Amino acid sequence: MTQQKNNNRRGGHHGGDSCSFCGAKRSDVEILFQGMDGANICNKCIENGHNILLENEVAKPKGKAAAPLKQEELMKPTQIKAFLDQWVIGQDEAKRAMAVAVYNHYKRLMAQPKEGDVEIDKSNIVLVGPTGTGKTLIARTIAKLLKVPFTIVDATVLTEAGYVGEDVESILSRLLQVADYNVEAAERGIVFIDEIDKIARKGDNPSITRDVSGEGVQQALLKILEGTTVNVPPQGGRKHPDQKFIQVNTRNILFICGGAFDGIEQKIAQRLNTHALGYGQSKREKVDRDNLMKYVMPQDLRSFGLIPELVGRLPVLTFMQPLGREALLRILTEPKNAIVRQYERLFEMDGVELKFDEEVLSYIVDKAVEFKLGARGLRSIAEAIMTEAMFELPSSDESRFTVTLDYARERFERANLTQLKQVG
Ligand code: ADP
Repeated sequence: MTQQKNNNRRGGHHGGDSCSFCGAKRSDVEILFQGMDGANICNKCIENGHNILLENEVAKPKGKAAAPLKQEELMKPTQIKAFLDQWVIGQDEAKRAMAVAVYNHYKRLMAQPKEGDVEIDKSNIVLVGPTGTGKTLIARTIAKLLKVPFTIVDATVLTEAGYVGEDVESILSRLLQVADYNVEAAERGIVFIDEIDKIARKGDNPSITRDVSGEGVQQALLKILEGTTVNVPPQGGRKHPDQKFIQVNTRNILFICGGAFDGIEQKIAQRLNTHALGYGQSKREKVDRDNLMKYVMPQDLRSFGLIPELVGRLPVLTFMQPLGREALLRILTEPKNAIVRQYERLFEMDGVELKFDEEVLSYIVDKAVEFKLGARGLRSIAEAIMTEAMFELPSSDESRFTVTLDYARERFERANLTQLKQVG
């Protein structure tokens, strides 16, 4: 190797043209640092060396140490819930469950158990409910007041190692990124895994229609949820052999999972029916058939196709209510960043005072219900109505603009309805 290196030397050039540690040529590395007496080192060897220092705790991980949590500074569950109320309409059960889980997560981080102490278990959460009812919104809102790193990842991109897609470990890459690569901080963070239902095993009978790849992802996720040391590719994506990894221990990371679990109502109904036989008619009558989601139990997630071990690692199970007319109307006007408020603000910046007639708000809600778009549709319907005004008004002299029902209807009917339908 030395011989080869010497052969590579060019006359007059200070130092060799390859790394004295790994032998890589200058043209094959990003940077080749020159040392004394012709010795060189490439960027990869410096990185490897740094990792060895990190592993042996000779060097400290990049970033500042995670700030300790102080109990008196933490918001109580009722305060967390009150904060959520400003942004999210309804969904009381889910908000309470989340508030408690986040609070307990903090307490768990603060309690450093000594020998023989009560050890507080992690209470990962699963939120079950139709799309567009506010699962991600709750998670995003809670992130605003969190004192620990937080990230939202999508389970649909996860695949088993060896398949096209992302390795399960990439979830932690995202957390590391938001923690500014501070491993200690990331190790107490919170991860929201959206669309967890998409990795469910397809088909009812696991022994016959076994969807191996779906189950592989669940198994991999299970390990991370349980608490293990994971080699995380810092940039995410797919692991490859000569990549450096950062070790992250997931023991104290809180996982919140959300999913629509389309069709789970049937599983719930089946279970309730079987039970009702045993308990007699009276029990059966009380069942609220229109909102079966509120009876969701861990075994329903299993019937849906999550492996029992994974369900077991998600001890807090809560549900989202479907949003009715009344809730949709409130969503238009009440949250801190309600759609109506946003338009008012936009127009105000052009010196225009914007007003919506009451009937317009009902009209928007009616259309959202009619096209089965739910809360997600409110925005696109309002946009269809407002585009023209947003185009014209900034260059007019008007200082007031009132959206009337006639105006709204006319604008909306002209808008491209097929486009709207795709929103759902
Ligand atoms: P999910 O994650 O359940 O599919 P999202 O949280 O992404 O739904 O909701 C989509 C959008 O609909 C949100 O960005 C928000 O504007 C609105 N929305 C949904 N549910 C609510 C709610 N309960 N309160 C206020 N806005 C909501």
